Amino acid sequence: MQALSLRNLRKTYKNGLQALKGIDLDVASGDFFALLGPNGAGKSTTIGILCSLVTKTSGQVRVFGHDLDRNPHEVRRAIGLVPQEINFNQFEKVINIVVNQAGYYGIGRRRALDRAERVLTELGLWERRNTTSRQLSGGMKRRLMIARALVHEPRLLILDEPTAGVDIEIRRSMWDYLRQINQAGMTIILTTHYLEEAENLCRNIAIINHGQIVEHSAMPELLARLHVNQFILELRHPPGEVPEVPGYGLERLDERSLLARVPTDRGIHRLFDALAAHDMEVVSLRNAANRLEQLFVDLVDSGKTKHV
Ligand code: ADP
Repeated sequence: MQALSLRNLRKTYKNGLQALKGIDLDVASGDFFALLGPNGAGKSTTIGILCSLVTKTSGQVRVFGHDLDRNPHEVRRAIGLVPQEINFNQFEKVINIVVNQAGYYGIGRRRALDRAERVLTELGLWERRNTTSRQLSGGMKRRLMIARALVHEPRLLILDEPTAGVDIEIRRSMWDYLRQINQAGMTIILTTHYLEEAENLCRNIAIINHGQIVEHSAMPELLARLHVNQFILELRHPPGEVPEVPGYGLERLDERSLLARVPTDRGIHRLFDALAAHDMEVVSLRNAANRLEQLFVDLVDSGKTKHV
């Protein structure tokens, strides 16, 4: 069963800006999924559409089989959102923040209190239920955001950069909690600027850039691709034909240079031997930036500038 399925999702804002240019995305039920992308890529627009905060221009959204156009209430009920900014009333008591949220979903006060007790206990906040949220530490506020998103018992939890600007200790305790609820069956979609976070938590990943999905794969697959070094070899003489050297993925770049893809666990000497056997002499060797690696560097860089 798919938790989320997006087909040809488009969003053009009133000013004519095409924020989403036909997004296709599938997230399986029970997955821990990373949605990565630099600032302005379209992550918040996508999440906004799923949560009925932004109206789509066209395309199809299905959440656990419910179509957003036909069953908006079912879709809303299925999703819990942890937004990027801490946005509760600082003077409201912790318990009321959670119970009132349940009220928005039509959950009666008695049941809401039971559920609030459960989620606040799980997140280590039950003892603090009667303090106002402004008295909480930064880490506690983050946990309260998660408790509030879970009180109506959604099946899909979406976290929009939950650990932006959060110190490493709090980040790790949030990771532990998210792993735990994912193991218990919660589907989680996480947007983040931190590749390390996505790598640590997520099984599948999509990268969005300029309103388009530029990568959609299993995390180990993507990491395996990242662990390939690309070299540009310059030859003394133009080769007649590019030889087949198994395991090195040779490709012609221009008249006298070749691109070689070398897995990090394999040396390059076998390639030199193979080329020598074809009377090809290498005069220089340099690293070619990996396209995906470059993409990640860009992502992480834009994250840094954003959070400084
Ligand atoms: P991300 O969350 O990946 O940073 P967004 O979804 O916020 O990206 O933005 C995608 C693009 O849409 C950006 O170019 C942004 O400036 C633009 N955008 C976002 N919200 C609006 C809006 N309300 N009106 C016009 N343009 C917007």
